[in-house]
Amino acid sequence: MADVEERDGDDDGAGAVSRLRDAFDDGVTRPLPWRADQLRAVARMLTEGSTLLERALYEDLGKPAAEAQVTEIRVAVAEATHALRHLRRWMRPRRRRLPPVLWPARGWVVREPLGVVLIISPWNYPVQLSLVPLVGAVASGNAVVLKPSELAPATSSAVAGLVRRFMDPRAVAVVEGGPEAASHLLEERFDHIFFTGSTRTARIVAESAAKRLTPVTLELGGKSPVWVDRTVRLQPAADRIAWGKFVNAGQTCVAPDYVLATPDVADALIPALGRSIRRFFGDDAAISPDYGRILNHGHHDRLVGLLDGASVVIGGRHDRASRYLEPTVVDDVTTADALMSEEIFGPILPIVRVPDAGAAIEVVRSGPKPLTLYVFSDDRDVLRAFAHRTSSGALGVNVPLAHLAAPELPFGGVGASGTGRYHGEDSIRTFSHERAILSKPLVPDTVRMVYPPYGRLADFV
Ligand code: NAD
Repeated sequence: MADVEERDGDDDGAGAVSRLRDAFDDGVTRPLPWRADQLRAVARMLTEGSTLLERALYEDLGKPAAEAQVTEIRVAVAEATHALRHLRRWMRPRRRRLPPVLWPARGWVVREPLGVVLIISPWNYPVQLSLVPLVGAVASGNAVVLKPSELAPATSSAVAGLVRRFMDPRAVAVVEGGPEAASHLLEERFDHIFFTGSTRTARIVAESAAKRLTPVTLELGGKSPVWVDRTVRLQPAADRIAWGKFVNAGQTCVAPDYVLATPDVADALIPALGRSIRRFFGDDAAISPDYGRILNHGHHDRLVGLLDGASVVIGGRHDRASRYLEPTVVDDVTTADALMSEEIFGPILPIVRVPDAGAAIEVVRSGPKPLTLYVFSDDRDVLRAFAHRTSSGALGVNVPLAHLAAPELPFGGVGASGTGRYHGEDSIRTFSHERAILSKPLVPDTVRMVYPPYGRLADFV
């Protein structure tokens, strides 16, 4: 595809917000045909801009083209197509039953757009995490300012160009830039802020939103644990864990962060993980076309630092110049180690040996509520124990990451891993106001029963 043309005038936050507010107030975004057009535009921009986006993702993250398609571009296309298919049904007013005391009357719930919404997205899946929220926001009839991450500059610029070329400029704007641009945007009035990123930045965003009582959705991260036990076949389990961990070089919010296993399972799982890694990336992942790179030198240094004094049993090689870090497994990690103190967000998989599932549950419970918990087990009691005694944004049984690709499942965190949810109809719930309507005929006037003076009413209460 030829490079997209740049259009002037979109990059000034305040100007964009005021233009969008006018469009919203004029009712531009409310009609269903407008929303459907915008959804078709998202699907078209992703298809026609596919090669441009693949190239940008490779430049920013060394993301292989196939991975870019499966984990970013097609996820966003599927979301737009799903929304287009269900939009009319989702927007239908819903009748609600009313208590007899209010009869005769009718009640409905109507989904209305919120207004002008701000979407702030991170660098790790810079296409998907910008455009999937955008789909929900325009499907709900909002005007949208999108602020992509400056840390994936090629993708930020490609997404900005495509949005400007394909979407309605009256109601959809992209403001590029880093913390400074974001801070300026936060000074504007929005009707909702949808933020994906780190807990640290989320605090700044939430604090700023609180000043105006602007509602927020916070899609954050954390340490997503994995439990594996002897009731499952270990090689396919290892394949799935290794895929979920090492896709995008471990820079995935729902990546398995660490494994909890009994010593006998850990002993068998480690060689199985080694086989999975070799099968995926060959003997030297550095020359594999299917393995990504770490975002920048700062993150690379942080990850290499986490390996200091660690018991590396697979991988561990790294090269700062090319931001390469081999798929790495570390054994005998304890909850006191640095590897367990923060979200790893890179291709390092710690194994924490525990005596049994009960002890694993205690490890999970001792930390903040994770974005996802993965349980590889066919033991119903174990599954039930994890389900009932822990809390997490989602629970993946025998498979990592897959829940993200199901538009019918809500995606979001709980507690420190986030607040609010989206994807499919849950995006509509997030980006709409559910307005209650009650309509009652004036005749017969049953309300009269509660008018003062209360003489007769007092006999009934
Ligand atoms: P980040 O918080 O550094 O940045 C996210 C966005 O916030 C960027 O667009 C950035 O420019 C912007 N930002 C930076 N400073 C800001 C400020 N002062 N005010 C407002 N906005 C500001 O996060 P990141 O490093 O891009 O992403 C990594 C984190 O995101 C990880 O913790 C990961 O787990 C999490 N994450 C969560 C999800 C999810 O869906 N829950 C998905 C991907 C990543």
